[in-house]
Amino acid sequence: MTESKKKKGALLVLNSGSSSVKFTIFKVGGDTGESTPLFGGQLDGIGTAAKLKVKTAQKELMADESWKHLDQGTVPAILPHLLEWIESKLPEDLPLIGAGHRVVHGGENFDKPVIVEGDIIEQLSNLEHLAPLHQPQNVAAIKTLATSRPELPQVACFDTAFHRTIPAVNNTFAIPKEYTDAGVRRYGFHGLSYEYIAHNLRENKPDLAKGRVVVAHLGSGASISALLDGKSVDTSMGFSALDGIPMGTRPGSMDPGVLIYLIREYDMNADDLEKLLYYKCGLLGISAISNDMRDIEENEEPGAKLALDIFCNRVAKQIATFAVSLRGLDALVFTAGIGENGPIIRDKVCAELKWMGIELDEGKNNTRGEEKISTESSIPVLVIPTDEEFMIAQHSVRLLNA
Ligand code: AMP
Repeated sequence: MTESKKKKGALLVLNSGSSSVKFTIFKVGGDTGESTPLFGGQLDGIGTAAKLKVKTAQKELMADESWKHLDQGTVPAILPHLLEWIESKLPEDLPLIGAGHRVVHGGENFDKPVIVEGDIIEQLSNLEHLAPLHQPQNVAAIKTLATSRPELPQVACFDTAFHRTIPAVNNTFAIPKEYTDAGVRRYGFHGLSYEYIAHNLRENKPDLAKGRVVVAHLGSGASISALLDGKSVDTSMGFSALDGIPMGTRPGSMDPGVLIYLIREYDMNADDLEKLLYYKCGLLGISAISNDMRDIEENEEPGAKLALDIFCNRVAKQIATFAVSLRGLDALVFTAGIGENGPIIRDKVCAELKWMGIELDEGKNNTRGEEKISTESSIPVLVIPTDEEFMIAQHSVRLLNA
């Protein structure tokens, strides 16, 4: 397609949750043909007291207002108002030309982003049982736009798609084959984040990008992946986003026998377990103080110290495990909230991996914005800020222009 035929306008990138919607508006097309973020923010507290906060790409405040009067209790009900608000801020020569959605689960069928057409919405709805806390919200947002703005093309980008390259030896659970055949296997999540890191390495560190790289996406949800030549070969999250390393409120891997015990001895059912495992475990469960890593770091109670030690130890163990999946290690990358902003955590994790040839430069680790934080003799350790929205914009523009 020639430059002149490429679509020009504004692209809406949406990440819809149960009570909040995060969004970014990108300018697409134009002279450079690139996607440039214009503004973005969050509508949260939906169902209690909705509030809109938006900043420009230069971090200037554009809106910080109560939307209580528009709050009809659900994301689908409030989304058309958000669309109106966004369009009121767009110049006339920059119409909305499409929407790209973060969709948590692509199941077995979706190994890359797709334009939402035909029976795609139905197919995505059919995956809701695989990610009951996120998929219904993602699908509801797509349905709402399809109804309120049928002329607006939509693209679904999946958090699982990047992990479709994981070989069977790493994505198969040791359970009877009939369950594996029915789709009970490791899907992995945070795929858009890993894909961005692989893209960033290809652009800026092509030699490392081709090698064996472990990426630690440490946020309130956290996972770790093993990348070989920019492709996922192993990942810590599994069938659900509960597996792997401990998180803010989720436990990470644990003995499945505990669940049988809780069902028998504490009379728990599936809903009770779901609440426990998604909202009451992890840093919050261990410390009984907070799910926020900053609170844990600042608190001197033994529970907080134990939570910090367990988190760092489990992250280090997972990184070492993935050096096995990769038969070695050429680089370690930290990303997401804790990975990008937490020198204490990075230091504790890497101290446990010194025997592997990983050693941080203390000064660089403590300098914000420093990309390479390891010593010269160490396996390179990098801090790369993730950008899932950029990845969704890239995929959406490519599909809208196709
Ligand atoms: P995310 O989900 O990627 O937004 O990351 C959220 C997590 O990052 C929370 O646990 C925060 O406590 C953590 N975080 C943010 N800033 C820092 C920091 N300066 N030090 C340690 N953790 C941080």
